[in-house]
This record gives sequence, structure tokens and C-alpha cells, in this order.
Amino acid sequence: MRRQRNVKVLATLGPASSSEEMIRALFEAGADAFRLNMSHGTHEGVRDMYKRIRKVEADLGRPIGILADLQGPKLRVGEVAPDTLLEGGAEFRLNLKHGIGDAAAVALPHKEIFEAIEPGATLLLDDGKLRLEVIEAGADFAVTKVIVGGPLSSNKGVNVPDVVLPVPALTVKDRRDLDFALTLDVDWIALSFVQRPADVAEAKKIVAGRAFVMAKIEKPRALDHLDEIIEIADGIMVARGDLGVECPIEQVPAIQKFITRAGRRAGKPVVVATQMLESMIDVPFPTRAEVSDVANAVFEGADAVMLSGESAVGDFPVEAVSMMDRVAQSVEHDDLFRDAIDAGRIEPETTSADAITLAARQVAETLKAAAIVCYTASGSTGMRASRERPNVPILVLTPVTQTARRLAIVWGVHCVQTEDASSFLDMVIRASRVAEGEDFASIGDRLVITAGVPFGSPGRTNTLRIATVGTERGRSRS
Ligand code: PGA
Ligand code: MN
Repeated sequence: MRRQRNVKVLATLGPASSSEEMIRALFEAGADAFRLNMSHGTHEGVRDMYKRIRKVEADLGRPIGILADLQGPKLRVGEVAPDTLLEGGAEFRLNLKHGIGDAAAVALPHKEIFEAIEPGATLLLDDGKLRLEVIEAGADFAVTKVIVGGPLSSNKGVNVPDVVLPVPALTVKDRRDLDFALTLDVDWIALSFVQRPADVAEAKKIVAGRAFVMAKIEKPRALDHLDEIIEIADGIMVARGDLGVECPIEQVPAIQKFITRAGRRAGKPVVVATQMLESMIDVPFPTRAEVSDVANAVFEGADAVMLSGESAVGDFPVEAVSMMDRVAQSVEHDDLFRDAIDAGRIEPETTSADAITLAARQVAETLKAAAIVCYTASGSTGMRASRERPNVPILVLTPVTQTARRLAIVWGVHCVQTEDASSFLDMVIRASRVAEGEDFASIGDRLVITAGVPFGSPGRTNTLRIATVGTERGRSRS
């Protein structure tokens, strides 16, 4: 099965989408990778979803990316009874320890907040939708007045914009969740509320190559060191939910463009996230503004667009994925898309991998080749080829299952797991066979193939070969 678009779709799983049938339906509708949100649910629940994704992956024979998103030093309220509504003007209490919350009080299990806030401070709940003003604060409680009310449900986020909170990059819960996620063999670990390059370096050290690490950019402070953060991370997320609370919301669109460009320059995948099709949580059709938002992320050259509540808790997860798929296809088939992508073209770095992938794009475009085929073990050549944003598909052939899965969120690449080529003839025949089998090419079409010679030695893409499907005779060793 091949997608008819380059941008990828990342869908968050949750109660509305955790069954095997739903996971399969979401994949078939266009989800290329799934996000498991460690902020919600139990390890058991996460393990079940993980296993179901891998089952669907095995059944359908396509690699699927799995991203475990660590909560980070995100402050959240505790559990809340269903249908809780905070009334504007009412008094509302936050307690360090509290049972099930209601319209009068809720648990806020973060003593740093109580230590740091003073009367007059603002507390924002649920991505800033609810606003509270602190009237009185003690060591383990705060009495507040509801300035802007609304519904409140369990584990919603709390932002304290006026106050600097002394919180570590990886909390105790994050370390536990990280260890657990690594035992599952997830492909990506996302770090929330990254503030400094050192935060990413610390996580990378613990992960030790067992997964790729994505830095979620949702703190204004992270923007001051963005390039260094990107250099250490394997990918980044424009986490607009918290970004739109921590920064003036009107600055978020420009910040999104700034982050997307920086990621593209570095050749690291960029995910644009949060509220992309928000109204589809409740209704089967998005607003014009939401469609435009998804389209703009695609025009900007983002690697992936993400669904959060729409697929995790909404009433229309499959419709939301399929809407993203339709919007992406429509944008990418428009002539203006090529103009926009080409306008953002970036100079290659002075490495042989970049020289070869640049040449591969030019040759492929000149010959109107059916695909660029990259042999890669680590996936890095696949990512460099993607950075070129060619107007022909990129077929990534890798012997490493994890590489195929990790690249599921990378723009324009279609990964297939296969043995490394053993000779030039094998390289051509294998590439042709996969390109035909995966519906990228037919007899007589041309392929532009990149590989590292001698074969089987990773990290040295140094060869470019033009091949015509069906002309090389012989059998590839497999
Ligand atoms: P979250 O991250 O959904 O984990 O908060 C994304 C965002 O803040 O946009
Ligand atoms: Mn966030």
C-alpha cells in the first residue's frame, strides 16, 4: 500500500481509538505513525495499544512508527468527576492532595506551584481555556476565583505564565515511563517542555540509540537555542498547544514557520501538532480555518501533521485522519505547492551523502524517473534525500526494521525492509523488484539508486546508479 502524498500523518491513540479494528482503520485511512501519550492511561494500556499496532503492522506488511510522548514537567490537575463545570466568578480550590475533583476543588499534585505562586497570579487550565486568579496560597493549597469558566476533565494541563517554576527536564514519572517505553521498543521518544539543549542531551544519553528522540518545542525559552536543540535531537515538534499558552497566541503562526524552517534546514523531521482539526472531536466535518491550517503546514513543508484529541478521544477519529489525507493530497497536487517547496530549498552540506542525494534529485527530476531508491541502514541517507524534497517519491530500502519504522514520519519516504544489496546487479534488481511490487514503477521506468559501496558497510553513501526497470536480467540473492 502506498500513500498518494509526501507529508505524513501522526495520530494519537486513546480511548476512542485503542482497539485493533480502529488502529487498522486509522492506518488504512492514512495514519503513518501513532502517538502513545504517556500523560494518560496506564503502562498496561500503553502496552496493549503497542501490541495492537504491531499486530496491524504485521498483518498489513507496512512499517508503522510509534512515538511515546513523555509528559515532561507538564503540570496537570488530578482526576475530575465527569461533567464537571467551573462557573465564572465562583471560588475554586486546588489542593496538593485531593480525591476526585469537582466544581469546588481539584488535586494539583505539584508542590513547586504552591511554593511559587502568590495572590494575584494567574493559573491557566486545559490549554488556557479556563483562567483562575489566585486569592490565597499556602504550602499545599490555593484558593482561586474562576475568571473564565468552562468544563474541566481529568489530567488537564496547568500553565503558570507569570511564575518561573524550578522543574527538572525529566521528572521521576518520565524516567519510569521512558524505561517502560524502551522495553516496548518504540521508535521515537518525545520530550515535552524542552528548555535547553542539555535537556535533549540528557534524554539521548539514557535512550542510548534505542529510539530516536523528538524535542517538543513548547517553551519560549527553547526558541533561543533552537538550532542547538535540533542538532542534538533527531526530530522536533511544533507543540502549539502549550506554545499558544506560554507565548502570546498571535505569535504562534510565525513561530511555527520559524521552527519548521529550522528543522528542514537541519534535515530533521518536523511535526506540526495540536488543534489541527479540533472541531472534528465533536462533528464529522472541520471548519474552513482548520482545513486551511492543515494545508498551510503542508505548504510550509512540515514532515508530518498530527492529530491529538481528534483521534484519541473524539467521535470521528477515522474521519479526521482521512480529512488530513485529503487536504494533504489536494495541496500537494497544486502547482503552488511545488513553488512553495522549491522556494524553501536549502544548500547541501559538504558531505558525500548530501552530494549524492542532491545529484539523485536532479537526475531523477531530469529523467522524470519513477523514484529515487536509497539503500540505508541507519536511515540517515533517507533523511538527507527527504531534505532535498524531490518531486519524485523516495523509496528507502533498509535491512533494519527500526529504521523503516522511525522514518514513518519523514516527508516523502516510503520504507521497505529488505536485505542489503550484495552486488551492483543485486542492487538494481532488488530496487526494481521493490519499486514494481510497491506500485512505484513498471517495466521501462527509470530509477535513480543511491547506495554505499562496498555493500554492507553502513554510513558511506557514495554511489549513484541510473537503472531501467526490467532491463537487468538475473536473480537477486535474497
Ligand atoms: P501535549 O503536547 O499534547 O502533550 O501537550 C502537544 C502540545 O502542547 O501542543
Ligand atoms: Mn504540550
